[in-house]
Amino acid sequence: MGSKPSSTAKVSPLSPSEKRGAQNINPEKQWINPQYHDDKRTKIKRPHEVENEMCNPPMMIAREVMNRVHGSMIGMALGDTLGASVEFRPRKYLLKNPVTDLQSGGTWGLQKGQFTDDTSMALCLASSLVTKSSFVAYDQLVRYKLWYRHGYMSSTGECFDIGKATRNALEEFERRQQKFAKEHNISLDEIDHIDDPRLLKNFNTNCGGKQEAGNGALMRLAPVPLFFHRDPEKAVHYSGESCGTTHGHEKAYDACRYYGALIVAALHGESKEALMSPEFYDKHRHWFGKKPLHDDVEAVAKGSYRKKEGYDDGIRGKGYIVTTLEAALWAFWADENSFEKGALLAVNLGDDTDTTATIYGQLAGAFYGYNALPKKWIHQIYARRFIEYLSKWIVYEGDSFSKSKS
Ligand SMILES: [Mg+2]
Repeated sequence: MGSKPSSTAKVSPLSPSEKRGAQNINPEKQWINPQYHDDKRTKIKRPHEVENEMCNPPMMIAREVMNRVHGSMIGMALGDTLGASVEFRPRKYLLKNPVTDLQSGGTWGLQKGQFTDDTSMALCLASSLVTKSSFVAYDQLVRYKLWYRHGYMSSTGECFDIGKATRNALEEFERRQQKFAKEHNISLDEIDHIDDPRLLKNFNTNCGGKQEAGNGALMRLAPVPLFFHRDPEKAVHYSGESCGTTHGHEKAYDACRYYGALIVAALHGESKEALMSPEFYDKHRHWFGKKPLHDDVEAVAKGSYRKKEGYDDGIRGKGYIVTTLEAALWAFWADENSFEKGALLAVNLGDDTDTTATIYGQLAGAFYGYNALPKKWIHQIYARRFIEYLSKWIVYEGDSFSKSKS
């Protein structure tokens, strides 16, 4: 999902609290937070520019879990970059010019391996989970805002594409921040850094419009189920909550809950047959709490994506959440156990190519694992070391969170 931003990025100087914040953060994780080349914040450091500052978490990470978490994160970035050069191209174009490999140029003029808004937002979400060691929707929104305004976690250093619903939500968030600052006598320099839970309880972080049923939250979902996978009920609950910051429609919320459950099940080593079973939802019903899935999402969970002829049977890679969910699952169902084949199937549906493939990549990467991803592609991913370290920290902090709650 994405379109060109309508307004020029606003730049403001680094505030005293931000300087202080940068000094206060655990030095092991400092590279996760925004860093700039200058005090006026005109040039943000891109992910690859902080790779030399990164370090491993202070504990060994279980190899099998890491293989799946890393696989999901890299699988997501791979799908994104594979589809980026042909984003918005219709199926007709892709039939004549099928994508068969990573390529540069096209829609955004990116270099081979660079990713778009999908992965940038997922990296914002992951960085928040790791920094806060928990789910803090306010901090997630602050990071999305930093991406929108300053290019945080962007592969180019700028937010060059953003979906309409996401842009509206982030601008609504900024308006709410200004109002909140006034009401609670907080300076605008401090407003991004409030972390008192009693204060944050009064801030409504559901900034997404109730009618927003696009795929913009599902495309960035993976870090949430990866972080909370040890507690499936929490993982499914927060998968839904992570949607509401920018997309308020029940279908978008439930698509994220269902897909979050699939990613958790993949991490737990469930078979592909179990993941694709029309009974998956019934068998895991206890993960979903009291609220059932919306009928349209449940129809997908019951197997509406099982269409042998794919596009000719009605599978579409378009922006509507139910259509996208169906398309990504169709690619997983039809990929003959090959990530390369599935990612290309998703892209070559046309339309919202990068997002369909990004969503496919989150689940397929978790299921097949990092070691099974195409080697010829993974070495070309932009900032792949950054994503590797971040994946380790997702496992480490997710594990710490789970232990602290048990
Ligand atoms: Mg995109």
